[in-house]
Amino acid sequence: MYAGKSLSCQLAAEDIGQEIFALAAKIYPICRSITGNGVRDTLRELDAHIGLDIHEVPTGTPVFDWTVPREWNIRDAYIKDSRGQKIVDFASSNLHVMSYSVPVRRQISLDELKGHLHTLPDQPDLIPYRTSYYAENWGFCMAHRQFENLRDETYEVLIDSKLTDGHLTYGEYLHRGETEDEILVSAHICHPSLANDNCSGVALLTHLAKRIAGAQTRYSYRFLFAPGTIGAITWLARNEQNANRIKHGLVVSMVGDGGGPTYKKSRRGDAAIDRAMTHSLRHSGLMPTILEFSPYGYDERQYCSPGFNLPVGLFQRSKFGAIPEYHTSADNLDFIRPDHLYRSYQLIVETIDLIESDVVYRNTIPKCEPQLGKRGLYAAIGGDKHAAAANMAMLWILNLSDGSHSLLDIAERAELPFATVRSTAELLRKHGLLEPCSDLRDP
Ligand code: ZN
Repeated sequence: MYAGKSLSCQLAAEDIGQEIFALAAKIYPICRSITGNGVRDTLRELDAHIGLDIHEVPTGTPVFDWTVPREWNIRDAYIKDSRGQKIVDFASSNLHVMSYSVPVRRQISLDELKGHLHTLPDQPDLIPYRTSYYAENWGFCMAHRQFENLRDETYEVLIDSKLTDGHLTYGEYLHRGETEDEILVSAHICHPSLANDNCSGVALLTHLAKRIAGAQTRYSYRFLFAPGTIGAITWLARNEQNANRIKHGLVVSMVGDGGGPTYKKSRRGDAAIDRAMTHSLRHSGLMPTILEFSPYGYDERQYCSPGFNLPVGLFQRSKFGAIPEYHTSADNLDFIRPDHLYRSYQLIVETIDLIESDVVYRNTIPKCEPQLGKRGLYAAIGGDKHAAAANMAMLWILNLSDGSHSLLDIAERAELPFATVRSTAELLRKHGLLEPCSDLRDP
């Protein structure tokens, strides 16, 4: 049987946070996009921690209504002024080049150049993150303050990129549990140097995969590291036959800031993952925001498309788009912190733990209350500081364990933390007052 504690207790909290942060910092400088060597380099870093299956899908492969695009790689890019000074340099920040820019090398007037420059007038010191995956274009991103000071002269622009037939790359790690039923956890790996979105999610899930690899679990766990949108679509197109194995799923992004936590429910709205995550967050002592499903966000959009309608929600700290650092150069390594990463990790582990152990019991003495005092059950928990909660948990569990309520049902109804209900149920089971009524609840 799954031991959730083993996931969180192998390392001290600080060490887990530091380990996740260190991996996020290691992959942060890599220039990623939806295809290309940046994705491969990133997956190689993850592979050093967990044995990844890396898949290469050729350009031109049809994936539902989409087509795997050409592969993009970039070596260098800059803008030089008339004196030959590099005023924008890809080597100093990969955000300076619009992702998927076609190659260009030419002299250009300021007026024409302006049509290819992206800035944030309201955040004049930050470099924006821009992409143009599906429309052929090129562009540079820069601080608005620098843009305003550009002189009216001729510039030299270079983007040494290549758009060629190649592959889309994604990585998977499968931990086999006792059943083939799967919990899918996925993170997008297509953003360049943005720490929270989504080096944080990629690093957290890599760490989680490492911990789960050593645990005995009921469910199998599939970790998917794929480029946003097209990666999830490609994975679904290639795994359509097995998608119904996914009983619970979580998209993880932006988990290193101190905001939220935020959970966006699956399209189903009442899936076990929705209830479990909501429960964990409401009992976290933080100020969670629980959002209903909307068809905008990350890859839950694909998993929750009507043809799949998988029970996959989105877990984040701050909500995407709702913070000023979002998709700018301010989303850097100073913006994420080991303690926030650890807390996010812990919330996910608690939720997984809950799903793994949400059992249905039956009260073996259903006619009137069993006499708890003579079994020493009140005394057993009398000295515990949570005694009152545990006593209430005992009464709720005995009352609702009629074969149709799971431990989560009981925790929700009693407004008690799942961990309290679970440990109390275990005590009652040891005293013969409960018997397992079914296998784990079928989602
Ligand atoms: Zn993003």
